[in-house]
Amino acid sequence: MEHKFTGFKCKSCGRVMYPKHNRCLGCKGMEFEEVELGDEAELITYTKLYAIPEGIEMPPLTLGIVDFGNNVRALGQIMTDEPKMGMKLRPVWGKLRKIGGKDVFGFKFEPIEKG
Ligand SMILES: [Zn+2]
Repeated sequence: MEHKFTGFKCKSCGRVMYPKHNRCLGCKGMEFEEVELGDEAELITYTKLYAIPEGIEMPPLTLGIVDFGNNVRALGQIMTDEPKMGMKLRPVWGKLRKIGGKDVFGFKFEPIEKG
């Protein structure tokens, strides 16, 4: 099964949001369609967590905010030990952590190798 990183586009004004909100932040519309956000995002900011919540298997964890353009930003785990502002990342689907013995899957962001 393939997972696409999708946002939610307002059917009234076209604003794309992630994650989904009940009402459009622009026009308060309530109808959305899913749109692909693409496979390249830019790292805006990040933080390294050294106090890892129980159940997370791969410390230290780096959390970042990435920008897909169009003001669409997402928070997620960054898969590098050397994050840099402005670096290009792509969303990948994978196991994030284990909670109560159950694997939790979601999107994380890995660097796109250049050159
Ligand atoms: Zn709208």
